[in-house]
Amino acid sequence: MGKSFSPTPDQFRQENGYEIDGVWYPRVTSIVGIKAKPALYRFYGEQPSFYAGQQVTERSAEEGTRIHEAAQAILLGEEPEVPNDIAPAIQAFRKFIERQPITTEAAHIERRIHHPEMRYAGTIDILGTMKGRVGVIDIKTSQAIYRDYNLQTSAYMEALLPDFPDLSTRWILRLDQLQFCQDCNSSRRVKGGREKIKKDYTSKVKSCGIHIWGPVTGIAQIKEFPDWKDDYAGFLAAKRLWEWENAELLESIGY
Ligand SMILES: [Zn+2]
Repeated sequence: MGKSFSPTPDQFRQENGYEIDGVWYPRVTSIVGIKAKPALYRFYGEQPSFYAGQQVTERSAEEGTRIHEAAQAILLGEEPEVPNDIAPAIQAFRKFIERQPITTEAAHIERRIHHPEMRYAGTIDILGTMKGRVGVIDIKTSQAIYRDYNLQTSAYMEALLPDFPDLSTRWILRLDQLQFCQDCNSSRRVKGGREKIKKDYTSKVKSCGIHIWGPVTGIAQIKEFPDWKDDYAGFLAAKRLWEWENAELLESIGY
């Protein structure tokens, strides 16, 4: 979203791939973008305009990037400056790694990966050891953990395996922040400047006239997805479809 519908070959090349050792590889996130995302259409449908939706999306992405950077710096033992607007999520992350330490190193964070044979590239958030196992840890700042993420991380797994034979699993670590109504337990989430309130249908208080919001609370949710072979088959199918969709541009850049 937000990109021009007919990029020049140069723009296409820049926006959708990486050049590694003189070879251009399409990037994993561009490839998985071929898959329809009903939740995204719903989101745009709720916005006052397409432009307003784009503004929220861009701002959310920027907040997400800052959360990534702070969490990654903390894993490397740094003390990054954490702006107030993301402090609760980062606090939740700190508590999480106290309970569940992650060991990693600088070369394993924001690591560029590529699969020469299957021809794709990407950048992983974290390759680390947790609970005694080596895995890919992908940070998300979304409101839920979506199954779609599995396509992306399966591609990372396959690209890393030759260099890291101990690699055995992958995790999604979701960092988010919410407020809860002290009366009816509805939740309020502000992301990209947009407020979203969700009712708690299990709450005994059916509706309260004016919510009484508690403090912004950080959330760190971890979910493991140990098996990736089926997801990888899905990823390769998505890649084939992506190549079909972009056949002309790919040909024009000599792919
Ligand atoms: Zn309420």
